[in-house]
Order: sequence, then structure tokens, then C-alpha cells
Amino acid sequence: MRSLGSVDQLLGSPLVSPLIERHGRQAVTDQLRSVLAEVRDAVRNGASLPAQSDIFASLLGRLSYQERSNLRPLFNLTGTVLHTNLGRAILAEEAVSAAVDAMRSAAALEYDLDTGKRGERDSHLRALLCELTGAEDATIVNNNAAAVLISLNSVGAGREAIVSRGELIEIGGAFRMPDIMERASLRLVEVGTTNRTHEKDYLKAIGPDTALIMKVHTSNYRIEGFTAEVRGDRLATIAREAGVVLLNDLGSGTLVDLSPYGLAKEPTVRETVAEGADLVTFSGDKLLGGPQAGFIVGRKDLIAEINRNPLKRALRVDKIRIAALEATLRLYRDPHRLGARLPTLRMLSRKEPEIRDQAERLLPAVSEMLAPRGYRIAVAQCSSQIGSGALPVDTIPSAGLKISASSGSALEVLAALFRSLHRPIVGRMQDGAMILDLRCLSDDEGFLSSIAEGVDNALA
Ligand SMILES: *Cc1c(COP(=O)(O)O)cnc(C)c1O
Repeated sequence: MRSLGSVDQLLGSPLVSPLIERHGRQAVTDQLRSVLAEVRDAVRNGASLPAQSDIFASLLGRLSYQERSNLRPLFNLTGTVLHTNLGRAILAEEAVSAAVDAMRSAAALEYDLDTGKRGERDSHLRALLCELTGAEDATIVNNNAAAVLISLNSVGAGREAIVSRGELIEIGGAFRMPDIMERASLRLVEVGTTNRTHEKDYLKAIGPDTALIMKVHTSNYRIEGFTAEVRGDRLATIAREAGVVLLNDLGSGTLVDLSPYGLAKEPTVRETVAEGADLVTFSGDKLLGGPQAGFIVGRKDLIAEINRNPLKRALRVDKIRIAALEATLRLYRDPHRLGARLPTLRMLSRKEPEIRDQAERLLPAVSEMLAPRGYRIAVAQCSSQIGSGALPVDTIPSAGLKISASSGSALEVLAALFRSLHRPIVGRMQDGAMILDLRCLSDDEGFLSSIAEGVDNALA
């Protein structure tokens, strides 16, 4: 062991100094100690003494591993475009550079450059949101769950909210409408049945304690068959006549009609405002294609009440996201180029033949790397989905690479290897095969070199 040199001697080696430069003396010393401890154990158990170059290689490996972030960029080939666990929307370049600019310098976040007086954080987005949705006023909070919570609490604390039994959603991550109501200090009044709710159900439930009627977009499920729901415009009339507020939680909420992009029609925020909702809530990072945020648009007096709620301070958005949101919303002013500039729409509107061509192009290189290791690769048809609770039942025809193996465990080995890459590849397992849906792949070169890295390192 002594022949390998002491920790201090090794730290002084010219091979180690660039590592100290990069990772810091403390991290290098710690990792070197644990490499040497491992070597000592191995030698004690009869292994032969490694060369000094092996020690350095192992040190380098540990330091690089330690430096890797779990949040590092990855290839989302799951086929779910807005994957909540993988961070939902990918931002437009315009939004990325706006966010970077905001990070690098001071900005007039709450400062009015015209008057030199204190300004308002939401003012940067308010005009744009009103322009794009036709609403009177708008405010922004951390995410749509927060938008729902603060809206309910501001408008109806201590009173009742009426919701159809068909719309009592659970979004996942413990976002369940009855629980949110309770936390917002409202009493939930359920009306109708799971499959059918009528106007008379709402009318019967309205009483002196009613603060609002809430309509919720059934984002992640669809009730089919013998069904009835009351349309938003009818609910608006009922709410107006009863003197209560109509809150419509759109969930994903899109600012444009998606049918020109080949997707099913979803109600737009503008339509929902126009049909008479007093408040409309929706997400920033679902179909809208921006960073995480929750928007509330609607009546000026109600938005003012929301802004006065102390919760607003707890749920507010920082300058980085405001900058990215503003840049994202601006893209909607030019609908003709939106599909090319907004990654979410660009990926969602890719057609199956184009993706299939891409799969055909990648097939030979991927096969060459994986076939010798016992994997079978083929081009396959598959189905993408939007994700994040938009059009839950609809799928979009897509294509990709289907990887099969002689055993399930061989596939698991490959999946684990893909996850361990410098830039991980995440596909989905389906019918005993791994499907890499190529809808969201724009960097073919990077994808191939990632696989090459994995094959070189582990499957060799
Ligand atoms: C997604 C969703 C939410 C929660 O929005 P987040 O932006 O994820 O907080 C709330 N309501 C509905 C109907 C949704 O689809």
C-alpha cells in the first residue's frame, strides 16, 4: 500500500491538480480517501495492488459521478409530451433567453420605470393576459393548484361552493378537490351524480351561504355513455341570476384552438371567459408551453380581492419565471409562427410519417450498437399522448424504436443503463418491450452518442 503513496503525495501529483481546480480540494481529498480505503480492503482480501493510473481513473469516475445532477437534461422518449415527472413543457428559446437575462441582472420587477415609484409584479403580464383571453384583469401565482386554492379562499372562505359530482377530480400528488375546498375554508356542496348533473341540481343547491359555483375540467378522465353536464354558458346565467361567482378551473387551459394542429378541440380560455365565467384558472406549463405558473383571469373586483389575500404573497412568482412567461405569452401574438416556435406545439403537431422516417434513419445505427448485445430493434408504430391532463383519452399516432430482449431482466438492464447515461434516455415499457417514442426527439446525433457512451461503458 505504501508504494501507492500517501494521500498528500497523490494530491500533489500533476494528474490530480486539474481535478482540484475543477472540483475543489475538499471533494478530491474526500474521494481519494475513500478510493484508497476501498483499495486497502480489496488488497487485504487478496486482490493485487492496482496501478496508480487505476487509482486516478477511479477518482475521476467518482468525482464526475458526484458532480452529476439528477436534474440533468434527458431524452423524454416516453411518448408523453407534457410529462409531469419529467418537468412538463420545454420552453421556447425566446423564453429561455428572457429567463437567463432576468437571472443575470437586476430587473424592474416591482418598480415603475415611468414614475420611479414602486410598481407591481403582475403588471408585466396583466395586459398580455387580458389581450390574449379577453378578460378584464389577471393575476399570476405559483401553479394552477395555487390558483384554485387562492381563488376559492378569496371568494368563498367560510361559505359554500357548489360542484358537480362528476367533476370532483383528483389530479395526483394529493390534489383532490374536496381537500382543496377544506383547506380553502369552504364547505363543498356536491350536486348531481357521477354521470349526470342538471341545471335543477345547481338551482336547488343555491342558498344564502352559497359563494360560488365551480366548474372543473375533468382533465385526466372522461365520463362516457349516459351523461349530462351543464354547459359553462348556462352555469354563468344561473350564477349571475343567483348573485354568486362562477369559477371555471380549466386545468391545462389553452390560449388557441388546437384543431389546426391536428389535436382535438379543447375550450380556450378566451371562450370560457366569453361564455361568462367570472374567474378562470389554468396552468403555465401544460398546453400553454411555458414555465410552471398558475393564471387567474376574470372580473376586476374579484382579481383585486385575490391580490389582497395574504396567501398571494406566499404563492407569488419570481422574476425569472415572470420573464419566461412574458416571452412565452408574446409568442401567442403571432399565431402563424406559434407552431414553429413553441416546442410543446411543435412536438404535439408532428405527424406520424415524419416520425417514422426519423425512426428508419436511426434504426441502422441503433441496431449496430445494440444487436451484438442481444437486443432486437425494429421500427414500430406507437401512440403518444399530450399528458398533464389534457385530452386524457385521445392519443396521437406516432412512431419509434421497439427494443426487445430474450428476457425481461435484459430489458431492465438496458433501461437502467439508459437512465445512468450522462444524458439519460427514458422510454416506456409496453407488452414486454421497450418503446422509444421519437415524437420529442430533436437531437438525433446526441441520442446516438448517448447510446454509444452507454454501450462503451457498460455493455462492452
Ligand atoms: C393540472 C390541473 C390542476 C393543477 O395544476 P398545476 O399547474 O399542476 O398546479 C388543477 N386543476 C386541473 C383541472 C388540472 O388539470
